[in-house]
Amino acid sequence: MPRKKSEEKRGNSETDMLTELSGVGPSIAQKLVEAGYTDYLAIATASPMELAAAADIGEATAARIIQAAREKAEVGSFETGDVIYERRQNVRKLATSSKNLDELLGGGFETQAITEVFGEFGSGKTQIMHQLSVNVTMPEDMGGLDGHAIFIDTENTFRPERIAQMARAQGLDPIEVLKKIHVARAFNSHHQMLLVEKAFEVAKEYPVRLLVVDSLTSHFRAEYVGRGTLADRQQKLNKHMHMLLKFADRFNAVIAVTNQVSARPDVFFGDPTSPIGGHIVAHTSTYRIYLKKHKQGRRIARLIDSPHLPEGETVILVTEDGIRDP
Ligand code: ADP
Ligand code: MG
Repeated sequence: MPRKKSEEKRGNSETDMLTELSGVGPSIAQKLVEAGYTDYLAIATASPMELAAAADIGEATAARIIQAAREKAEVGSFETGDVIYERRQNVRKLATSSKNLDELLGGGFETQAITEVFGEFGSGKTQIMHQLSVNVTMPEDMGGLDGHAIFIDTENTFRPERIAQMARAQGLDPIEVLKKIHVARAFNSHHQMLLVEKAFEVAKEYPVRLLVVDSLTSHFRAEYVGRGTLADRQQKLNKHMHMLLKFADRFNAVIAVTNQVSARPDVFFGDPTSPIGGHIVAHTSTYRIYLKKHKQGRRIARLIDSPHLPEGETVILVTEDGIRDP
């Protein structure tokens, strides 16, 4: 049966990835993908017998492939409680330049967490992402994290001029601030995921304390349309978000992502103002802020479903200088 074009493309990138395992050539990779072994984790957790049957290979070869996959897979491992406790001691807050918004979030955007800002077009999501990128470069006593930012831009809305404007308003040298913001355009969802892997490399070289994905969901939403694509989209989004969480933990960084609300009734919710991405995004985001346009540059920010902060809402202002209190 002929495959659809999009499936073919995905199939190829998966087989390419599998051939990186020693002992796996293109034909074995093809058989594995067809049998549903599409990533390292699936292979790492298979038994030699299963894998041998799926790829028409001997069990000894299968065992070697499994071993290779275990080395590459993100299986995770155990940590003792004191190590986690120690890491939690390092949690920091990044100020937003709005006292109201900081208070709503218990002091600002938290490191080692994903904070999702969702709202309709023009509600100020990208403005907040710009403000955070400026603020992260500031010293801690000014509410910053004395670090660099990585900005993954999927909608081509990053504006250095806007960064410069906000930096000047904070009394910072715009060029110095811009030098600490590492920006990449993501051209599709696959590229977006690859850029997060790249971000790990950047963070080895620079003290990255903020990773922005603006927007988290737009490519996924545009690419995975129609019946039969939903499970695939959710699986990819899940993987993407877990990679972000890993980055947050590893580098004690703030992860700030934006998300749209669906104008049409989404498949997940009947509510036309609900965020995209369904349960995966909802459950993986640590904090979710709903942003709503109000009058005269005012925005209502509402904290939704927080694990340990009370639900609440506040009013912020988008001004020429950046995010402020009314
Ligand atoms: P979203 O990302 O949610 O679609 P944006 O963050 O791009 O929305 O917000 C755009 C809005 O921000 C504009 O409609 C305007 O109200 C405000 N804004 C953008 N730039 C400025 C500026 N230089 N001065 C004042 N307000 C601005
Ligand atoms: Mg935007």
